Amino acid sequence: MRAFALVVAVATVVILAAGKATAGIDPVKAAQVEQITPIIDRLPKIDKALTDKSAEKRVYQWAAEILPWYAREGIAYDVRVPESINWYLVPLGLGSSVVSYTFDIDAFTNCQMKGATQAPSGFAIVTGPVWMNGHYTLPTDSLYQDVGYIFTLTHELGHDQGICNGPSDYVESSTQLAAIEVASAMSLGGNKLAAASLLPEWRSIILGAMLYDALKSDDLPSYYAFLKSVVTPKEYAARMSKYRARFTDDLAKEQWAEVYKKYSYAVYVKAEWCLRGGTLAASDKRGSLFAPHVMVPSEQPLVMDDFVYLIENLGELYG
Ligand SMILES: [Zn+2]
Repeated sequence: MRAFALVVAVATVVILAAGKATAGIDPVKAAQVEQITPIIDRLPKIDKALTDKSAEKRVYQWAAEILPWYAREGIAYDVRVPESINWYLVPLGLGSSVVSYTFDIDAFTNCQMKGATQAPSGFAIVTGPVWMNGHYTLPTDSLYQDVGYIFTLTHELGHDQGICNGPSDYVESSTQLAAIEVASAMSLGGNKLAAASLLPEWRSIILGAMLYDALKSDDLPSYYAFLKSVVTPKEYAARMSKYRARFTDDLAKEQWAEVYKKYSYAVYVKAEWCLRGGTLAASDKRGSLFAPHVMVPSEQPLVMDDFVYLIENLGELYG
């Protein structure tokens, strides 16, 4: 069963690559971005409850909301809590660090087990702290109150559930998939802000996969032209400004291709596999980045059923 899954996944990648080679842009990904963009435009953009004064409390409220879904989705056998959730700002210091901590990193977590705490149901495992980028809490920042922080926190809490150790490529794409399934279940449960946070993330994953294709085939102009055709002029300008700062030379392009591969391309390939009816196996430590396997602590397959239902019924749910 697993060998069959692998073979079909490889075939899928080849088909997508072939489409890209002839058209410049993969038509499947392009159609997905075109379908989801007007839906995203109608969803809330900010969490008004996240203010510079309420931010500390707000992340704990969201953590309390998100964590039980990791159990309900069968990802966490025991639900683990971070010892703290902090907002960080890095306004000064080495220029490259300031750029990366301010503009490139949305959050990070020390997901190693640190101890135990008393819970109503007995004892719960405590992990290290989660660090969230403070730009979401700065009233002067373009990302102030951006609902994207909810998915970001969902991803970090996924690491804390045990998707923590192993090759970084593998851990990051698995965590993204687990967070997508959790955020999809929350969205279907009626949580509007979870949906408003998830759908732009899913579109960013598709765009990141397209960008990975473009960087690998040295065809950024085709990607830029597609982007311009689908997003607002303001979003286009903001994304292009980011790309100009990132893709400064060939080495930078290569390094960024690796980042897009880890967080977007590998996630896209696996999610697309599920949308085509495939399933994800659990705890396969071999973990090829492109194979449809995911590492979860439950030793159970990660079932992406809520994500598939959400995407298949997008128009009806949010159109
Ligand atoms: Zn991560």
